[in-house]
Amino acid sequence: MKKLLLTLLAFGAITCLHAQMKYIDRANMDTTIKPGDDFYTYANGTWIKNNPVPASRTRWGSFDLLREESSKRLRSLLDDAVQNRTRDRKTQIIADVYSSGMDSITLDKKGNTPIRPLLTRIDGVKNTGDVLKEAAILRTTGAGSPFFGMFIGPDRKNVRKYIPSISFGGTSMADRDYYLKTDPRSTRIREAYKVYLNKLFTLAGESEAAAAASATAVLNIETVFAKAQYSRVEMRDPYKTYNKFSVKDLTALAPVFDWKTLLQEMKVKGADSVLLNNPGLLKTADSMLKAVPLADWKSYLRWNVIRNAAPYLSNGFVEADFAFTQVQTGQKQITPRWQRMSSLIDSRLGDLIGQLYVEKYFRPEAKARMLELVNNLQSTFADRIKKLDWMTDATKQRALEKLNAFAKKIAYPDKWKEYEGLTVSKDDFYGNVRNTATWSYNYNVNKMGKPVDRTEMGMTPPTINASYSSTNNDLTFPAGILQFPFFDFGADDAVNYGGIGAVIGHEMTHGFDDQGRQSDAIGNLNDWWAQEDGDKFKLKADEVVQQYNAFTVLDTVHVNGKLTLGENLADLGGLSIAYEAFTHTKEYKENKLIDGFTPSQRFFLSWAQVWRNNVLPDNAAQLIVTDPHSPGIHRGNGPIVNIDAWYDAFNIQPGDKMYKKPESRTRIW
Ligand SMILES: [Zn+2]
Repeated sequence: MKKLLLTLLAFGAITCLHAQMKYIDRANMDTTIKPGDDFYTYANGTWIKNNPVPASRTRWGSFDLLREESSKRLRSLLDDAVQNRTRDRKTQIIADVYSSGMDSITLDKKGNTPIRPLLTRIDGVKNTGDVLKEAAILRTTGAGSPFFGMFIGPDRKNVRKYIPSISFGGTSMADRDYYLKTDPRSTRIREAYKVYLNKLFTLAGESEAAAAASATAVLNIETVFAKAQYSRVEMRDPYKTYNKFSVKDLTALAPVFDWKTLLQEMKVKGADSVLLNNPGLLKTADSMLKAVPLADWKSYLRWNVIRNAAPYLSNGFVEADFAFTQVQTGQKQITPRWQRMSSLIDSRLGDLIGQLYVEKYFRPEAKARMLELVNNLQSTFADRIKKLDWMTDATKQRALEKLNAFAKKIAYPDKWKEYEGLTVSKDDFYGNVRNTATWSYNYNVNKMGKPVDRTEMGMTPPTINASYSSTNNDLTFPAGILQFPFFDFGADDAVNYGGIGAVIGHEMTHGFDDQGRQSDAIGNLNDWWAQEDGDKFKLKADEVVQQYNAFTVLDTVHVNGKLTLGENLADLGGLSIAYEAFTHTKEYKENKLIDGFTPSQRFFLSWAQVWRNNVLPDNAAQLIVTDPHSPGIHRGNGPIVNIDAWYDAFNIQPGDKMYKKPESRTRIW
């Protein structure tokens, strides 16, 4: 289970503004707003007014600016690779994938021919056994993911051992709500989905009547799956989604699925048991396989191929795919092709492009400085745990054990994947996309039976994000996030602690949020809490649920306090720990003004600046359903009202809109 700092939609940059830059710039603020009424807007109001979302984006903020710059860096590496294709294998691979994806003329000429052989094979499906066999073939060859996902990962109750995790889903839209709800927005998205289905089936060569029948079949099947899916809040429960079955018992649960054969077809060797996310959904799939006509299953399989391929085929497919994205997010123009390609190469061949990125753009000193900051935060967190007034000593001991066991993965991995055996070609983009997916699938499936590798890094070096993994009990900070406004060598400590310091604290607190606290120092799901401490934690966490439930977005839509709880707890803990660590610095102790602000003011302004962004209304509405992170304004404003130092720094008084009485402030970590 992995927690991110921010959910990424696409990819995204900052110009190097070092030397004379103002790290906290009054010109970005709106000082007509009182800091105690709306701190986020006080800190960012003018920036927000002057930085609307660009046409090819769905949101625009600190993360997106960095992503924009990062994608330009990747583009220059890719252009260089194309010029020097014969330099070495690494260069040849990324050059060929990039060239093949940029060559829209060839892609247009090919039309739907790249997927024709797959569609023809699906036409030959004769029974439900064939349907499942085809599902396995699509999955193992990077062509689609009908019914379920399969991933070899550590057993969450025995993390030193790999086990296959089978995640039933079966749907294509971003959330089950869009199949089931009847509010205007869900209805509009569902209608657009029907248009999208029809359009893609037609482009794939079906007559209008056939495409309409295929579309109806797919929507019917996916709607039944959606009904049986857990809600996103239920999916956050690590026990509810942990269902271990022997292969034999799993087949008994749903006899149409012959797991012994299926696992073989999926190249999984030596698995006597598996983890299942949602047994009810498997049973639903089982009874549907008996009830739904074969022709409809063929449509469902074809749909998975076509939808998966659409972004990599001719312009008609790409436009239809974007049109559906547009309805969901409000994005006005498609992301430029070169940017889509650099994003694809980063996600598929991250260790190849990542090596080049780090060589050219990463200062090795940043890694050492970052490790120092992480260590400072860790020891401050330890002191705070020792001083907690609500936790018994026995639980504190185990909390400290877990904290001290954090592994730290900074900037780039210790060993790079070299993609041995991967072949790509200059003129087969769809083939390249599938070959990279197949390579990753095989890499993952070959882990079965081997000792668990805890050194792998789950994010590529250019990524502007950070993460905590409860199964590995590790923290990851890719090279991409070690830049302003998170971190800069030239910035004062207030800016760096309010930025990357709070991010480090955030990821550490994930180890102790409502989910993370359920795993121990090694990463096993294992309750190490004394009952009374767990009860007290839940009461405190409930206060945070209530606090965020009261926040709105788009006037009437509320933040889902339960869905975003883990992230909100991480923000509150992270900022509290970072502030205390900051009080140990020389800058804090000297208490001199910089650009007119005290060190404490700069700390909180830095925090707010990280979260400044504009989001298109449609995208905001979608994120409120799908994103476990709260919107930027509430990340900026949410935690500070619980931190006494913020009140002191800005002289916040009763009567200010954000004011909370000292006894009502939530203090956890
Ligand atoms: Zn997070």
